[in-house]
Amino acid sequence: MRLILLGPPGAGKGTQALRLVAKHAIVQLSTGDMLRAAVAAGTEVGLRAKSIMDAGQLVPDDVVVAIIADRIGQADARRGFVLDGFPRTVPQAEALDRLLAARGLKLDGVIELKVDEGILINRIATRVEEMTARGEKLRADDNPDVLKGRLAAYRALTAPLADHYARKGMLKTVDGMAPMDDVTAAIDRILSPAGAAKGSAKAKPAAKKPSRSKAKPAKGRKAKVPAKGRAKKRAKASAGSKGHKSAQAKNKAGQRKSGTKRRLTKAR
Ligand code: ADP
Repeated sequence: MRLILLGPPGAGKGTQALRLVAKHAIVQLSTGDMLRAAVAAGTEVGLRAKSIMDAGQLVPDDVVVAIIADRIGQADARRGFVLDGFPRTVPQAEALDRLLAARGLKLDGVIELKVDEGILINRIATRVEEMTARGEKLRADDNPDVLKGRLAAYRALTAPLADHYARKGMLKTVDGMAPMDDVTAAIDRILSPAGAAKGSAKAKPAAKKPSRSKAKPAKGRKAKVPAKGRAKKRAKASAGSKGHKSAQAKNKAGQRKSGTKRRLTKAR
């Protein structure tokens, strides 16, 4: 399975990517993580990227495209991957299209997490407070001023990607403001064989009333969403039948992820 997660900083891409990794035994390819690893290792790429990242701007396309080109060719990405933070510009998306085509690979979907910017700023502020309280080191770009720049870069350069993928019929949109588990359930529905035909799905925030949506939406129509009741049932079912498997996959994925970083920092 090959997926792209789209969404502004703080939208929850990283959280959802980790869940997809565990569920589908694929790898998470986060250009942000890879660049941070390169910075930490003091590689040439890292030295080039550091000040750009600290300022909340985008690293040049050729740098990230080269990183991804190298990474998707590695053995652990063969089973599939979820791209988190890449592509971030239309030229990056076009480069990815070419990279995949050259390898005879196809994307299974592009999932956009739609969020409200005002709330995002609060989320980042909370994340900063929580990390500070735990005594964890903050990312240099995790501060409100830089975040505004990151959001501006997102609006100008990354948001147009939704159109790029919508034109290809690949874009699915999820309500990223819903509780995390509901977002996960909405993504699961999109990725399930029945959900794949739907086009889009929304995660509903926790509602009080149970919904009555047993009827399947007609094929090809916008997913009027199977509400929470159904989402919960699925989540329960998968926790029951696949929980064990997922945990194993998670371990495996975790090992792969750290392996990835090692390889990357060595290579660059
Ligand atoms: P966030 O999604 O929270 O903004 P990331 O961890 O994805 O953070 O990225 C952090 C920084 O790394 C970005 O602000 C940017 O400077 C750089 N970066 C990551 N991915 C890309 C990319 N695909 N193209 C250009 N720059 C990138």
